[in-house]
Order: sequence, then C-alpha cells, then structure tokens
Amino acid sequence: MTSLPPTAGTAWQRCQVTLKRTAYEVRTGGGRSLRCLCCALMHRPLVARSLIIALIVGTLLTAINQGNVIFQGDASPALAWKIPLTYAVPYCVATVGALLNSRAGPA
Ligand SMILES: [Zn+2]
Repeated sequence: MTSLPPTAGTAWQRCQVTLKRTAYEVRTGGGRSLRCLCCALMHRPLVARSLIIALIVGTLLTAINQGNVIFQGDASPALAWKIPLTYAVPYCVATVGALLNSRAGPA
C-alpha cells in the first residue's frame, strides 16, 4: 500500500521531520511507503543491499588493486585506509543510486 505524498511544509508522520523537498519511496512489508532522507538512509533493506554490494565490489577492487601486495606480504600501513575506502565507495554509490531511483518528487 502506497501512502499519499505529504504536502510541502507538513510534518512527516514517521519521524516528525518537516518535508521541504523530496520524499523517498521505500519497499515495506505491506508494499511501499514514503520516507524522509534520513529515514530512507536508515531503511534496513537499503542498508543491507548496499552492504552486500560493498562487500562484493569492495573485495573485487581490493583484489585487483592491492592483491599482489597483500599476497606477497608487503602490506604497507597505507592499506589501513585504502582498503576501507575501497569498500566505502561502492557502499556510497549503491546507496546514492538507490535513493535517486526512489525519489518521489517534491513533497
Ligand atoms: Zn524521517
């Protein structure tokens, strides 16, 4: 069941945030519902999908870019920030892509 888009300036029912711009449509157990940006960013299925994508893509990119260094045992301290960033980038890309695709237009 899809709830109706709130009108501009009304308080969002779920978190009491006043919507000024865009609402985001997320899948819920009973269908779809509209959320503010913060609630959409914390929507568990969205976070889970982004984490899975980050795990797969981040592992592939780490293997491609740093695999030889890691397997040779020459890991430098710089890998301590390079590898987490390699996982963070696909997480951000997947999350932003999902949010852009779920925009429900101006409230
Ligand atoms: Zn909210």
